[in-house]
Amino acid sequence: MTDHDVPLDFGDPADLDTLRRELRAWLAEHPLPRRRHGEPMAEFLHRWHRQLHSGGWVGLDVPERYGGRGLTALHQVAVSDELGACRAPGVPRIGYLAHALLEFCSEEQRARLLPRMLSGDDVWCQGFSEPGAGSDLAGMSTYARRSADGGHYLVNGQKLWTSYAQYSDYCLLLARTDRAAPAHSSITAFALPLNRAGVTVRPLRAANGDDEFCELFLDDVRVAVDERVGAEGDGWPLAMTTVNYERNALDTGHLSKYGLLLERLRRQLREHRGALPDGLVSAVGRCVVDYQVLVAHARRRTAERLAGRAAGPESSVDKLLMTRAEQRLYETALAVLPEELHRDGGAVYGEYLYSRAASVYGGTSQIQRNIIAKRLLHLSSAS
Ligand SMILES: Cc1cc2nc3c(=O)[nH]c(=O)nc-3n(C[C@H](O)[C@H](O)[C@H](O)COP(=O)(O)OP(=O)(O)OC[C@H]3O[C@@H](n4cnc5c(N)ncnc54)[C@H](O)[C@@H]3O)c2cc1C
Repeated sequence: MTDHDVPLDFGDPADLDTLRRELRAWLAEHPLPRRRHGEPMAEFLHRWHRQLHSGGWVGLDVPERYGGRGLTALHQVAVSDELGACRAPGVPRIGYLAHALLEFCSEEQRARLLPRMLSGDDVWCQGFSEPGAGSDLAGMSTYARRSADGGHYLVNGQKLWTSYAQYSDYCLLLARTDRAAPAHSSITAFALPLNRAGVTVRPLRAANGDDEFCELFLDDVRVAVDERVGAEGDGWPLAMTTVNYERNALDTGHLSKYGLLLERLRRQLREHRGALPDGLVSAVGRCVVDYQVLVAHARRRTAERLAGRAAGPESSVDKLLMTRAEQRLYETALAVLPEELHRDGGAVYGEYLYSRAASVYGGTSQIQRNIIAKRLLHLSSAS
C-alpha cells in the first residue's frame, strides 16, 4: 500500500472521486500541523480541527443548515480514509456527539450548538461516567433537581474520565432527574456550559503522559430548562445513540493507518525473514486477517448508513473487532520493529499504550460481549 492507497475505495462514484482529489490538493497546500514541543494533545488536535474546518472538511454528512456540507456518510468515510492514508490526525472525534445532538436537540438548539461544535468554536466533552457508574451507567447518582417554579435545575454530583474537559466549553451531561423512577427512564441530558458557577474540572495524568482524563465536580450548578437536551427521561436513549456511533466502525482513518503500519511489518518480514522467529510471522498474519475483516466491516457499515440505517447494538461487534485489531497490531509492531519504541519521540510506543485503553473506553470489552449476548443473540442471563 502506498501513501495514497486507501482501503475503502468503493469504486467511487464520480463526485466522491472529485472530493478525494480536492482533499489531496488541499492537503498539499495546507501541510499537516506538527505538535509543538510540550503542546498538550488537546490543543494540537484543536488546531488541526480548525484547519480542517477552514477547508470545509468537518461534518460532511451534517445538514448545511447546521454548519455541515449536507453530503453522505460515504463522503465522510472517504475524508477519514484519505486523512489516515497521509498519517494526518483523524477527523475531530465529535461525530458521535453531533449525531446525538442532531437526534435529540430542539431545532433552536441544533441551529445554535451544531455550527459552533463543527467549527471548533465550542469544544465539547462527554460527561457520562462516574466513580461508581461506568459499565453500570444507569446507576449514576449525579442528580438534577427541578426548582419549585420549574424554571431551572440544580445539579450536584461527580463525573470521572471526562476526556479533555479542561479544554472544553460544553459538556453533554447526564444526570438523574427522578430518584423514584426506574433507572433507564429517569436520566436526562443537558448541554452544560463549563464556565458555569459550581463546576470544577480537575485533570488527571495518564501513563502515556497525556492529561486526557478529568474529574468533573458539580456543586449546585444551575442549569436552565432550555439547556436540557430532549425531554426529561430521554437521557438513556441519547446515551445509547451516542455510544452506538462511538463504537461504530466508520471512523476509517484508523484503518488507513493500520494499513500503513502493517505494510511496514510485511516489509520487515520480507527483508529479515530468516532472523525473525516463526511466531512473529504468524502474528503478522493474524494482523493482516484482523485488518481485512475490519475493512469488510467498515464497508458494510457504510452501506447500511447510506441505506438510512442508524447505528445500533451491532456496533458492539465493531468495537470488539477494532479493539482486537488495534491491540494485536501494536503489540506485534513493537516485537517486529523494536526500534520504533524510540523513534519520533516514541510515537508508536505512545499509540501502543493508548491501544490498551481501547478495551475500556466507549464501554469495556466485557460489556460489549454482554450486549451481543443479550441484544443480538437474545441469550438470557441464565443461559
Ligand atoms: C481513554 C478513555 C477515555 C474515556 N473518556 C470518557 C469520556 O470522555 N466521558 C465519559 O463519560 N467516560 C469516559 N471514559 C470512561 C469509560 O467509558 C469507562 O471507563 C468504562 O465505561 C468502564 O467503566 P469503569 O472504568 O467505571 O469500570 P467498571 O465499570 O468499574 O468495570 C471494572 C471491570 O469490571 C468489568 N465489569 C463491570 N460490569 C460488568 C458486567 N456486568 N459483566 C462483566 N464484566 C463487568 C468491566 O468490564 C471492567 O473490566 C473513558 C475511558 C477511557 C479509558
